[in-house]
Amino acid sequence: MSATIPYGKQQISQADIDAVTDVLTSDFLTQGPMVPRFEQAVAHYTGSRYGIACNSATSALHIACLALGVQQQDYVWTSPNSFVASSNCALYCGAKVDFVDIDLNTGNMCIQSLTAKLAQAKQQQSLPKALIVVHFAGQSCDMASIAKLATEYGFKVIEDASHAIGGSFQQAKVGACQYSDITVFSFHPVKIITTAEGGMALTNNATLARTMERLRSHGITRQASEMNAVSHGRWYYQQLELGFNYRMSDLHAALGLRQLDDLDKWIEQRHHLATRYDHIFSTPKWQERLIPLQRNQRHQSALHLYVVRLIGLSAAQKAQLFDLLANDGFGVNVHYIPIHLQPYYYELGFRQGDFPTAETYYQQALTLPLFPALSEQQQEHIVACLDARLREILQ
Ligand SMILES: *Cc1c(COP(=O)(O)O)cnc(C)c1O
Repeated sequence: MSATIPYGKQQISQADIDAVTDVLTSDFLTQGPMVPRFEQAVAHYTGSRYGIACNSATSALHIACLALGVQQQDYVWTSPNSFVASSNCALYCGAKVDFVDIDLNTGNMCIQSLTAKLAQAKQQQSLPKALIVVHFAGQSCDMASIAKLATEYGFKVIEDASHAIGGSFQQAKVGACQYSDITVFSFHPVKIITTAEGGMALTNNATLARTMERLRSHGITRQASEMNAVSHGRWYYQQLELGFNYRMSDLHAALGLRQLDDLDKWIEQRHHLATRYDHIFSTPKWQERLIPLQRNQRHQSALHLYVVRLIGLSAAQKAQLFDLLANDGFGVNVHYIPIHLQPYYYELGFRQGDFPTAETYYQQALTLPLFPALSEQQQEHIVACLDARLREILQ
């Protein structure tokens, strides 16, 4: 059996290795020049003012919530079709989490559900302090509509763009924060570009940027203007709030900075492969069996994931298909188990049936391999195996 083709995979070149080893032999392994350089490069790429690099997207989401003032008794809403970090970050702040159901065709938060839930929450005086939208599979949510609702109801907006660096909404890159307060990227190896572990918060607001910078490093400041007393000397610092060590190292930043050079090329390769999948699955034979996730062609998706919804398979048949494809050497996956169905969230009071579209979507969803180095032959092999296995199961 040949090596497994995973659903996603990082790409590491000699240039990446050189970039990291250069830092290893330099004066700074951390808190040197590479982190600010990486931050400025990502901010410049996306068109936002400030980038705050962190050791993960999870920690970036946490300090984003804190900077926006999320605290005990506040509500934070997000999508149930996401990784648990999208909602855990609000729980870290002591806030209460709730979810907004999704659109079956895109996997993104449903604007109609959001609108209805906000109207109801206004009556019950339980409006959210912040909304964390998730750009599922790399496709931006409808940020213009969300920003309108944010103004009408007075909540803050965080974009969990862990899947979406390199994507766009209208003419602006995701991360420009045109319609949000803060955008967060993940640089985990399975995402679009990697720093091994890492994340970044982007914002156009100087105060938010400064607060996140402090929270990333223990809540400490070395700027005299932020101190409540005269500095004792050049060594002096003050802790102003309870922060964390969420810093990124220069090794990680050097890798990220190098990877950024290839971002646009990789997005193009992802589009090339996704369009081939779309084309293959547009025949009547395939249309009876599966529906690819819908992409709005007016905005550019970063295409982190290629997801299809399988038609008419029972849960047992889907599990069987998953096993057969794994044995064939494909690292297929399922994104996502709805967060509210996790045991920890059951303890918080969520139940099966709370967000029915996310649950239906979960039963149907299958993520097929998609990454820049996937060859067209491998892709055809995947499709042929999927064809054979579906026939086997459905006969
Ligand atoms: C990967 C991911 C995260 C967490 O990213 P880390 O960098 O691993 O902390 C958060 N949200 C979403 C939607 C993700 O896919």
